[in-house]
Amino acid sequence: MSNLGSNLDDLYREIILDHYRSPRNRGELDSPPAIRVEGFNPLCGDEIVVYLDVEDGVLKNIKMTGSGCSISQSSASLMSAAVKGKPLDQVRETIATFKQLMTVQEATLAHDGEAPVVDLRALGELAALQGVIKFPVRIKCATLSWNTLIQGLDELN
Ligand code: ZN
Repeated sequence: MSNLGSNLDDLYREIILDHYRSPRNRGELDSPPAIRVEGFNPLCGDEIVVYLDVEDGVLKNIKMTGSGCSISQSSASLMSAAVKGKPLDQVRETIATFKQLMTVQEATLAHDGEAPVVDLRALGELAALQGVIKFPVRIKCATLSWNTLIQGLDELN
Protein backbone atom coordinates (compact mmCIF):
# COMPACT_ATOMS: atom_id res chain seq x y z
CA MET A 1 0.00 0.00 0.00
CA SER A 2 2.86 2.37 0.83
CA ASN A 3 4.15 2.47 -2.74
CA LEU A 4 0.78 2.91 -4.33
CA GLY A 5 -0.16 5.32 -1.56
CA SER A 6 2.76 7.65 -2.18
CA ASN A 7 2.26 7.56 -5.97
CA LEU A 8 -1.33 8.52 -5.37
CA ASP A 9 -0.22 11.29 -3.02
CA ASP A 10 2.07 12.60 -5.77
CA LEU A 11 -0.76 12.54 -8.28
CA TYR A 12 -3.08 14.32 -5.87
CA ARG A 13 -0.44 16.92 -5.08
CA GLU A 14 0.03 17.51 -8.81
CA ILE A 15 -3.70 18.03 -9.34
CA ILE A 16 -3.91 20.49 -6.44
CA LEU A 17 -0.87 22.45 -7.64
CA ASP A 18 -2.19 22.50 -11.19
CA HIS A 19 -5.50 23.98 -10.07
CA TYR A 20 -3.70 26.45 -7.80
CA ARG A 21 -1.38 27.66 -10.57
CA SER A 22 -4.01 27.68 -13.32
CA PRO A 23 -7.32 28.20 -11.56
CA ARG A 24 -10.36 27.29 -13.68
CA ASN A 25 -13.30 29.64 -14.08
CA ARG A 26 -11.47 32.59 -12.61
CA GLY A 27 -13.24 35.92 -12.98
CA GLU A 28 -16.54 37.66 -12.36
CA LEU A 29 -20.06 37.60 -13.74
CA ASP A 30 -22.28 40.65 -13.92
CA SER A 31 -24.48 40.72 -10.85
CA PRO A 32 -27.38 40.95 -11.09
CA PRO A 33 -28.48 38.78 -12.84
CA ALA A 34 -25.74 36.55 -11.47
CA ILE A 35 -25.76 35.60 -7.81
CA ARG A 36 -22.74 36.86 -5.92
CA VAL A 37 -21.71 35.38 -2.57
CA GLU A 38 -18.64 35.90 -0.44
CA GLY A 39 -16.92 33.44 1.84
CA PHE A 40 -14.18 33.99 4.38
CA ASN A 41 -12.12 31.58 6.45
CA PRO A 42 -10.76 33.60 9.39
CA LEU A 43 -8.58 30.69 10.56
CA CYS A 44 -6.37 31.01 7.50
CA GLY A 45 -7.37 34.31 5.90
CA ASP A 46 -8.81 32.67 2.78
CA GLU A 47 -11.31 34.71 0.80
CA ILE A 48 -13.56 33.64 -2.04
CA VAL A 49 -16.23 35.33 -4.11
CA VAL A 50 -18.48 33.00 -6.08
CA TYR A 51 -20.65 34.13 -8.99
CA LEU A 52 -23.44 31.84 -10.13
CA ASP A 53 -25.53 32.03 -13.27
CA VAL A 54 -28.49 29.68 -12.96
CA GLU A 55 -31.05 29.19 -15.69
CA ASP A 56 -33.83 26.59 -15.94
CA GLY A 57 -32.44 24.57 -13.06
CA VAL A 58 -28.95 24.40 -14.55
CA LEU A 59 -25.80 26.02 -13.24
CA LYS A 60 -24.96 27.59 -16.57
CA ASN A 61 -21.87 29.40 -15.41
CA ILE A 62 -19.71 29.81 -12.33
CA LYS A 63 -16.86 32.24 -11.80
CA MET A 64 -14.74 32.98 -8.81
CA THR A 65 -12.26 35.45 -7.47
CA GLY A 66 -10.41 35.42 -4.20
CA SER A 67 -7.11 34.82 -2.53
CA GLY A 68 -5.70 32.54 0.07
CA CYS A 69 -3.74 29.36 0.59
CA SER A 70 -3.21 26.76 -2.12
CA ILE A 71 -5.80 24.40 -0.61
CA SER A 72 -8.59 26.99 -0.55
CA GLN A 73 -7.91 28.25 -4.07
CA SER A 74 -7.35 24.86 -5.68
CA SER A 75 -10.45 23.47 -3.98
CA ALA A 76 -12.44 26.37 -5.43
CA SER A 77 -11.05 25.69 -8.88
CA LEU A 78 -11.73 21.95 -8.64
CA MET A 79 -15.24 22.70 -7.43
CA SER A 80 -15.99 25.06 -10.29
CA ALA A 81 -14.81 22.49 -12.83
CA ALA A 82 -16.93 19.81 -11.17
CA VAL A 83 -20.22 21.71 -11.06
CA LYS A 84 -20.19 24.04 -14.06
CA GLY A 85 -22.91 23.28 -16.59
CA LYS A 86 -24.59 20.72 -14.33
CA PRO A 87 -28.25 20.54 -13.33
CA LEU A 88 -28.72 21.82 -9.79
CA ASP A 89 -29.66 18.42 -8.36
CA GLN A 90 -26.35 17.04 -9.62
CA VAL A 91 -24.56 20.07 -8.21
CA ARG A 92 -26.10 19.40 -4.81
CA GLU A 93 -25.15 15.73 -5.08
CA THR A 94 -21.54 16.63 -5.78
CA ILE A 95 -21.53 19.01 -2.83
CA ALA A 96 -22.96 16.30 -0.56
CA THR A 97 -20.39 13.74 -1.71
CA PHE A 98 -17.53 16.15 -1.21
CA LYS A 99 -18.73 17.18 2.24
CA GLN A 100 -19.08 13.50 3.06
CA LEU A 101 -15.49 12.93 2.00
CA MET A 102 -14.32 15.63 4.38
CA THR A 103 -16.57 14.43 7.22
CA VAL A 104 -15.99 10.71 6.82
CA GLN A 105 -12.27 11.24 6.65
CA GLU A 106 -12.42 13.35 9.78
CA ALA A 107 -14.24 10.54 11.58
CA THR A 108 -11.86 8.01 10.07
CA LEU A 109 -8.89 9.83 11.55
CA ALA A 110 -10.54 9.88 14.92
CA HIS A 111 -11.10 6.14 14.75
CA ASP A 112 -7.62 5.38 13.53
CA GLY A 113 -7.63 4.43 9.91
CA GLU A 114 -10.83 2.75 8.76
CA ALA A 115 -11.33 2.84 5.01
CA PRO A 116 -13.56 5.67 3.81
CA VAL A 117 -16.99 4.68 2.54
CA VAL A 118 -17.08 7.51 0.01
CA ASP A 119 -16.87 6.37 -3.60
CA LEU A 120 -13.77 8.24 -4.73
CA ARG A 121 -14.42 7.42 -8.38
CA ALA A 122 -17.58 9.51 -8.20
CA LEU A 123 -15.42 12.45 -7.18
CA GLY A 124 -12.97 12.43 -10.09
CA GLU A 125 -10.25 15.02 -9.54
CA LEU A 126 -11.96 16.16 -6.34
CA ALA A 127 -10.56 13.04 -4.69
CA ALA A 128 -7.21 14.84 -4.74
CA LEU A 129 -8.43 16.91 -1.82
CA GLN A 130 -8.82 13.91 0.45
CA GLY A 131 -5.19 14.35 1.51
CA VAL A 132 -6.28 17.55 3.21
CA ILE A 133 -7.84 15.62 6.05
CA LYS A 134 -4.40 14.69 7.33
CA PHE A 135 -4.32 18.32 8.40
CA PRO A 136 -7.67 18.93 10.11
CA VAL A 137 -7.07 22.68 10.34
CA ARG A 138 -7.00 22.79 6.52
CA ILE A 139 -10.45 21.22 6.14
CA LYS A 140 -11.96 24.67 6.55
CA CYS A 141 -9.72 25.85 3.71
CA ALA A 142 -10.96 23.03 1.46
CA THR A 143 -14.64 23.48 2.29
CA LEU A 144 -14.72 27.30 2.11
CA SER A 145 -15.69 27.54 -1.55
CA TRP A 146 -18.21 24.72 -1.16
CA ASN A 147 -19.96 26.38 1.73
CA THR A 148 -20.00 29.60 -0.26
CA LEU A 149 -21.57 27.74 -3.20
CA ILE A 150 -24.26 26.31 -0.89
CA GLN A 151 -24.97 29.81 0.36
CA GLY A 152 -25.40 30.97 -3.23
CA LEU A 153 -27.73 28.09 -4.10
CA ASP A 154 -29.80 28.88 -1.01
CA GLU A 155 -30.37 32.36 -2.37
CA LEU A 156 -32.23 30.82 -5.30
CA ASN A 157 -35.01 29.61 -3.06
ZN1 ZN B 1 -6.38 28.24 3.89
